[in-house]
Amino acid sequence: MSDAGAPGADIGIFGGSGFYELFDEAAGGTTTLAIDTPYGPPAGPVTLGHIGGVRVAFLPRHGPDHQHVPHQVPARANVWAMARLGVQRIIGPCAAGSLANHVHPGDFVVLDQLVDRTWGRPDTFYDEGAAHHVSFADPYCPQLRSAAVDAAARCGITAHERGTVVVINGPRFATRAESRSYRDQGWEVINMTQYPEAYLARELGICYCGVALITDYDTGVEHDPGMEPVTQEQVFAFFEDNLHRVRELLAVLVPSLRSTRSCDCAAARGPLVNPPLPA
Ligand SMILES: [Zn+2]
Repeated sequence: MSDAGAPGADIGIFGGSGFYELFDEAAGGTTTLAIDTPYGPPAGPVTLGHIGGVRVAFLPRHGPDHQHVPHQVPARANVWAMARLGVQRIIGPCAAGSLANHVHPGDFVVLDQLVDRTWGRPDTFYDEGAAHHVSFADPYCPQLRSAAVDAAARCGITAHERGTVVVINGPRFATRAESRSYRDQGWEVINMTQYPEAYLARELGICYCGVALITDYDTGVEHDPGMEPVTQEQVFAFFEDNLHRVRELLAVLVPSLRSTRSCDCAAARGPLVNPPLPA
């Protein structure tokens, strides 16, 4: 991609192939770009187009063939590619398990807090030059969260307005004891990809919103010893069956994001040594 006349986008979505039909055909269709980054290639080419008149960039976080397992998702390259395109807001839909009795498969959770239990993942752009410590007290953009909650209501989707996600390293699922300990902490959602994706977006001053589609009850439900633990087949099949509901949400949410940003997310961006991003 060259700098001169480079295409761009305002909204980024880390989605999958099931989202391509959201693009406005009348707005010129889509363009696919292979973007290289100082952190290596992103998980796949970025598709640019319009949804409801808004410029959008899609990137499958696991790759077009789901070839990157969660702990090997090239999150820095994925987020940097979005920043390179000028994206100011990222929506990160994801599959997740429920840790709470009141959160059921098929529900959506608009995440508001995050607990990082991953390890060994490159999770900063600021590992060179002057120290740059970024507040992550509130990991998700309040303005984007509010828009996502409104969009879910307009779609008639059951969405919890807040929830804490514990991000585990994977690719294995949690043990019963781990899952029970997370429940005991009061955390509602378990997932493998929200970290460092959400944090890396913050480091570049990009608003980030995590919308979890609940696919399972992780290792089971309290007081139901007959409940079977989650399997990969169950997660993939459930997510596929419910993809149209994620699409419905995005089709309402994205066009509602025309307003300028009133949050503080942009202020988190510091002086990058490598790579220098365009202002
Ligand atoms: Zn924000």
